[in-house]
Amino acid sequence: MPQPAELAGLTTLLRDGRGRALHDLRISVTDRCNFRCSYCMPKEVFHKDYPYLPHSDLLTFEEITRAAQAFIALGVRKIRLTGGEPLLRKNIEVLIAQLAALRTPEGEPLDITLTTNGSLLARKAQALKDAGLQRVTVSLDGLDDAIFRQMNDVDFPVADVLTGIEAAQAAGLSHIKVNMVVKRGTNDHEIVPMARHFRGSGVTLRFIEYMDVGATNGWRMDEVLPSAQVIERLQAEFPLVALAASAPGETAQRWGYADAHGHYDAALGEIGVISSVTQAFCGDCNRARLSTEGQLYLCLFASQGYDLRSLIRSPLSDEGLRQQIAAIWQGRSDRYSELRSQMPADLTPQSARQRVEMSYIGG
Ligand code: SAM
Ligand code: SF4
Ligand code: SF4
Repeated sequence: MPQPAELAGLTTLLRDGRGRALHDLRISVTDRCNFRCSYCMPKEVFHKDYPYLPHSDLLTFEEITRAAQAFIALGVRKIRLTGGEPLLRKNIEVLIAQLAALRTPEGEPLDITLTTNGSLLARKAQALKDAGLQRVTVSLDGLDDAIFRQMNDVDFPVADVLTGIEAAQAAGLSHIKVNMVVKRGTNDHEIVPMARHFRGSGVTLRFIEYMDVGATNGWRMDEVLPSAQVIERLQAEFPLVALAASAPGETAQRWGYADAHGHYDAALGEIGVISSVTQAFCGDCNRARLSTEGQLYLCLFASQGYDLRSLIRSPLSDEGLRQQIAAIWQGRSDRYSELRSQMPADLTPQSARQRVEMSYIGG
């Protein structure tokens, strides 16, 4: 077994083909969801006969934990559980407890978080917190009930998501974030009301540009509202000041609400914009993604993964597993968003037609 110091050395050396370190691991724990957001799992495709993965194909909690250990030895310090809807995975809190018990080579706990549509949060927040979850991100696309019900396409009410967020706060989950995917012409009129609602609440609201992820959502550039325009609309209502990134490779650009003197007022909090379409951030992308069935993806827009499940289910040692993952990361050259931004608006890179769905790979 390599000793902690050797592993720490390996971590500082491990870089992909573009010099990027491995820092974040996103783990999809289910490909199923109880929502049918049109930008992610449109009903026409994800209907009742859709061939979801059989249970035997899913990585078990023990397999996920073993994979996570290998990734931690290679530099991962942050794990985000996602899906589909991660709270639909039975006994998810058991997995959280297993991951929370892991330590970095320096003996530190990991930063563990989870992205959820919030529908089951009111029921589960306390159990998640007790299992060791520190933070949570809740997706909510507006406060207008009719629009939200239409966007989740299962008639789910806003009030129940807000109750879930309150339950998360009451359970002591910190740094709660709310993600709003902005679709021009659908929910962009909700930008300012959402900001007004969450300003000063301790919740960080983040606006995500509608992305051309997957191959089923019928994405069109004219439905993307560039983040710069989101900021303009917010600035008209609330003075904002740019804040520095809190971590390398952070996806969101941060803006703080200003006080009467134009200084950041921490009591009012901050917002973030994630400009995946208009401002590619591939240059310092430090994220790997593990699909529900154990395929390793090196980019949200990848069309192919690497079959880690076969490796995990083979007699390969932990050391062998680490070496295989390290070799895969070293061969990485993905930079889809950068390439797309260099192409005319009506063209997308070749891989667009085959790439995997967000609900499978996790956001
Ligand atoms: N079901 C959970 C949820 O909705 O939070 C977790 C999985 S979901 C795939 C993760 C995140 O991806 C959500 O915040 C969702 O809004 C975002 N997302 C899905 N499709 C998207 C798209 N086409 N463009 C931008 N964000 C998208
Ligand atoms: Fe489900 Fe999340 Fe996709 Fe909406 S964005 S369909 S909640 S997985
Ligand atoms: Fe990372 Fe791929 Fe997104 Fe670029 S397009 S930031 S490489 S996930």
